[in-house]
Amino acid sequence: MKIFCVGRNYAAHAKELGNAVPEAPVIFMKPDTALLAPGAKFAYPSFTSDLHYEIELVLRIGKTAKNISAANALSCVDAITVGIDFTARDVQADLKAKGLPWEKAKAWDNSAIVGAWKPFNAEANADGADILFSLTKNGQTAQSGTTQDMIYSFETLLEHISGYFTLSPGDLIYTGTPAGVGPCLPGDILTGFLGEEKLFELAIK
Ligand code: ZN
Repeated sequence: MKIFCVGRNYAAHAKELGNAVPEAPVIFMKPDTALLAPGAKFAYPSFTSDLHYEIELVLRIGKTAKNISAANALSCVDAITVGIDFTARDVQADLKAKGLPWEKAKAWDNSAIVGAWKPFNAEANADGADILFSLTKNGQTAQSGTTQDMIYSFETLLEHISGYFTLSPGDLIYTGTPAGVGPCLPGDILTGFLGEEKLFELAIK
């Protein structure tokens, strides 16, 4: 199983981190060991002192796809949820400053959180749809987003990613985070919503 992540897919988020809006999708990967097992506890990692949440819509691939066109792209997705692309922001800043890869900031064990899966409806999730999602920290809204603010739609991302990598059943795509990323600490409770529906609640240990 592969985990793809999209960087800088919301202009306001790119701006908050001082990054330019990309000219093509920014793609990175996490290994399967990054996925927090359902019900497992999440421990604050020892190698960071600036752990950031990034709420994202996550797509799950249902059938093999390679070089899929945008027009057919949604047919390879079978489920959607919200998740967190956890980022050690201090580690990332250091790596970015040195022009080094991001894995130590983003691909570590348990850095990928997923909520409960919902069946994916291609019609309801097509380009132009207004899919709302949000994250609360200790009950206060920390981030909220809509697919209407994505720079690259689900279709464009699937076409782009499958041009480089074969998509296989079970692969996940984190589709980027809206503005409002920020730090969390042991004791915080992070809750992810798709629309009004709560799909995960995570306690930081
Ligand atoms: Zn992210």
